[in-house]
Amino acid sequence: MDIALEQALRRDYPVLYSHYRENHFWCEDGWYPLLCTLSQTLETYAQEHGIRIHVHEVKQKFGTMRYYYGYDGVLPDRQKHTLFQIVEEYENRSRRICEHCGLPGTLLVRDGYWYVACPEHAKDGLTPAAFQKLGCTNSV
Ligand SMILES: [Zn+2]
Repeated sequence: MDIALEQALRRDYPVLYSHYRENHFWCEDGWYPLLCTLSQTLETYAQEHGIRIHVHEVKQKFGTMRYYYGYDGVLPDRQKHTLFQIVEEYENRSRRICEHCGLPGTLLVRDGYWYVACPEHAKDGLTPAAFQKLGCTNSV
């Protein structure tokens, strides 16, 4: 992700990213708005419940966003579950947002590499369904 955007996230959500272990947010700029909204949601939740959430790593894996976090102390199961659901929802949203530009996208695969892209950034990628069909055809 562009260094200016990374710095903006760290600046706008200093508590959330104070324990960030990585040098970078390992995804492209198209997910920046998604990360802003997720960060805001988590920060609001943390403030409302008097807890501290720390994000350890943000990356793209198998095409979608992965968001690794922890928290201070021990949380009730209900709060743990809520945090899990919030993060899961945004990870799922990344499946429909072009990682490159932020426009609506589709999960695609090309040369064994998975990514979410809009038509402009699709780079001849295939949808998983088309890819599977191709695999079947080749193996027969
Ligand atoms: Zn795009």
